[in-house]
Amino acid sequence: MRNKEMLLIPGPTPVVDSIYDALAEETQSHTDPRFVSIYRNAIEKTREMLNTDGEVFVISGSGTLAMEMAVVNTVSAGEKLLVISHGYFGDRFIQLGKAFGIEVDVLQAEWGKRVSPEEVQKKLSAEKIKAVTITHADTSTGVAADLNTLVPIIKKHGALVILDGVCATAAMEEDMGKTYGNPEFKIDVVLTGSQKAIGVPPGLAIVAFNQSALSAREKIERLPAYYCDIYNWMPIMNDPSKYFATPPVNLIYAYDEGMKLVLEEGLEKRYRRHEAYGKAVRAALAEFGMTALAEENVAAATLSCILYPEGVNDAAFRAALAKKGLIVSGALAHLAGKAFRIGHMGNTTEQMLEKAIMLIGETLNELGHSVDSSQAAERFIETISHCTK
Ligand SMILES: *Cc1c(COP(=O)(O)O)cnc(C)c1O
Repeated sequence: MRNKEMLLIPGPTPVVDSIYDALAEETQSHTDPRFVSIYRNAIEKTREMLNTDGEVFVISGSGTLAMEMAVVNTVSAGEKLLVISHGYFGDRFIQLGKAFGIEVDVLQAEWGKRVSPEEVQKKLSAEKIKAVTITHADTSTGVAADLNTLVPIIKKHGALVILDGVCATAAMEEDMGKTYGNPEFKIDVVLTGSQKAIGVPPGLAIVAFNQSALSAREKIERLPAYYCDIYNWMPIMNDPSKYFATPPVNLIYAYDEGMKLVLEEGLEKRYRRHEAYGKAVRAALAEFGMTALAEENVAAATLSCILYPEGVNDAAFRAALAKKGLIVSGALAHLAGKAFRIGHMGNTTEQMLEKAIMLIGETLNELGHSVDSSQAAERFIETISHCTK
């Protein structure tokens, strides 16, 4: 790998050489049949990953654009959107919805906890809600949503399920063909970005709409968006030789390679790998007296928000790690200074994570907190082998 540092933040994530190579290929015309074929393949692989018979969109933009695209094409001004929020990124849907005149209602969990399914049930029974957003893994708290519980409750009330997979897609199950207890109960929209569990540099917004979500779009007469209107993109996604707005040619090369790696590894295997990473990183850090904000039964496979033991200075800790080539993130909002966030997703390897555990131990020792790094590394390896057996 040509990377000089280990970028273990909740995205962007480490980029492997074959993806860099793809990125550095000669830029072709966006209408060149050779590029058109790559774009078509990339869209096809996305469709396969999400297992959808609906429409898939892969366009320039970050995850936030994908969030916007999901919401504006399904919910109109004056209609109600329910946000199930497990942190900062769940909350982002509140402002987003309001910007388009949508009536937003929100259920916020205490940071580190999940919203209770009973509350979701109560809200949906009380009023007519058009769509509900679920953040699959909230990047601020490391809390994962329980789709098996939430999807049936939402679908029973006839609302659309919009799943924010920006920190989960390709690492946690997002199967749009899966039925949740009833043939009609499925995830309607999945949105994601290229730079997290997919392992491609930032810059692509990826969204998939099933038939129910597409009929919601059909009923919207005047969409308050232009670039984000899926109707402007549908002809291109079905025939990439057509033009609406110039696609990011080199990023599409990279994404096609990234998706090839995802599908070659296999989704089931990938989901298990991430689950093992999450458990093992948290178990190893616990050896240092560092606990995750989210309890294990609600913790995400892709990243963890880790509370500092008494007396560790956030800035000093992260600066010392950065000097050793390990980049982790600070925490957001009221947790800033009290916790750090470590990503363990995408094309991150077991070796990288084991090294990260050693470096964290080394750094804690340097900062005067005596810990046993090799014991933690052992715990990491043990947990991984236990999970993958
Ligand atoms: C990172 C992230 C976003 C925002 O994505 P950007 O690419 O930064 O716009 C949205 N939702 C979740 C869950 C995320 O992790």
